[in-house]
Amino acid sequence: MDLARSAAAEVGRPEWVGEQRAPQVEGTRLVTHYFTCLDPSYPGWNYAVTVVRASRAKSVTVNEVVLLPGEGALVAPEWVPWKERLRPGDLGAGDLLPTDEDDERLVPGFAQVPEGELDEEGADQQMLWELGLGRRHVLSEAGREQAAERWYNGEAGPRSPIATAAPARCATCGFLTPLAGELRQMFGVCTNEFAPDDGKVVSLDHGCGAHSEVRHPAERNEPVAPVVDELGYDHITFEDTAELELVSADS
Ligand code: SF4
Repeated sequence: MDLARSAAAEVGRPEWVGEQRAPQVEGTRLVTHYFTCLDPSYPGWNYAVTVVRASRAKSVTVNEVVLLPGEGALVAPEWVPWKERLRPGDLGAGDLLPTDEDDERLVPGFAQVPEGELDEEGADQQMLWELGLGRRHVLSEAGREQAAERWYNGEAGPRSPIATAAPARCATCGFLTPLAGELRQMFGVCTNEFAPDDGKVVSLDHGCGAHSEVRHPAERNEPVAPVVDELGYDHITFEDTAELELVSADS
């Protein structure tokens, strides 16, 4: 134990080697002694000194001296691979984001799909269409499901404030252009430049006030109630006043 303490003092400083903690037997004639590290830069750390006595040797020698984090020690956060740190929206202009060969969102263009998606002759119509594009990879079932879930639960889904206040759904809107493939059952692209979702994927049960069937009250032959503006005012010129007098004289 004294040898271990002096080894720790040699690596650190004698005043930094604190009280001894429970030693650990690592193997035959191989023991690690622990001492609290009192270096103010390393709160919660311990000196770990492993000592050994070789077979048939009389003296004990120091094998290793290290600092190990203990309870409450300040340590670096666990390493997170760079690609797991990326969040949607992080990709900037000029950035490259390589796709993994085994990315579960993609399958080879010639891959088979679940049987439920085959037509009567056993041909996968979606795959035939995808093959026509000559792409090496196409979206997998998992990739489609993830995208659909994300879109549906986002701002362009049925639960966003603009959708809940909309007079009608995108499914009946002339500005909706359906997507191709399986996703067309739930989504399309809004093509109305005045809609907040112009150029974005919207769910069929999304909606907004710019729906193609929204009509001006006058076109619906509904009476338009006059509104008295009590806050604004108009400049009236001398000519306006003369015109008004003429009108009142006529009437
Ligand atoms: S204009 Fe509005 S209702 Fe029509 S497709 Fe776009 S978001 Fe949907």
